[in-house]
Amino acid sequence: MNLILFGPPAAGKGTQAKRLVDGRNMVQLSTGDMLRAAIASGSELGQRVSGIMQRGELVSDEIVVELIEQRLPEAEAAGGAIFDGFPRTLPQAEALDVMLKGRGSQIDLVLRLKVDDEALKSRIAGRFAESGRPDDNPESFLVRLNAYNVQTAPLLPYYQGQGKLTEVDGMGTMDTVAAGIDAALNGVGR
Ligand code: AMP
Repeated sequence: MNLILFGPPAAGKGTQAKRLVDGRNMVQLSTGDMLRAAIASGSELGQRVSGIMQRGELVSDEIVVELIEQRLPEAEAAGGAIFDGFPRTLPQAEALDVMLKGRGSQIDLVLRLKVDDEALKSRIAGRFAESGRPDDNPESFLVRLNAYNVQTAPLLPYYQGQGKLTEVDGMGTMDTVAAGIDAALNGVGR
């Protein structure tokens, strides 16, 4: 099974993706984690993307599509992928569909964590101090939220049109959101 965890920054995608892979035959594919690893390693790619990420802007489609493509065989071998933070633009979503199709596979389900903007802003405010992420600051967070609303939210009708979109209330505690996700997965027989 291939699943997309969809939602704005700080909606809890990473936390829920990590929980979901435990005990399932799936791997988490987080482009944000891959890019942060590239920065930490000091690679040429890391140097190219660090300023963009720090400002909260999106890196180019080509970069993230290539990162994901490299990891698809591993995900396939494990039994499926939980895409976390990818795709974030329509060209990325289309490229993902093409890559999976070429491998005889597809996206099975898109789980949208619904969280309102004001709740996100107060949630992230508490995280700025302890996160250690250079893009967890008020200015970059607003840029990230805007990128989500302008570039990523238009993917919702794309996946709705494919009949793959399921919405989960992302406003509760980690455990209640997890329960909502499990209920949604059970509802589609996963
Ligand atoms: P995340 O950890 O998913 O919040 O991603 C952190 C940052 O990495 C984002 O603000 C972007 O700068 C970059 N990034 C991660 N995934 C993508 C993506 N799919 N497309 C473009 N930029 C991305």
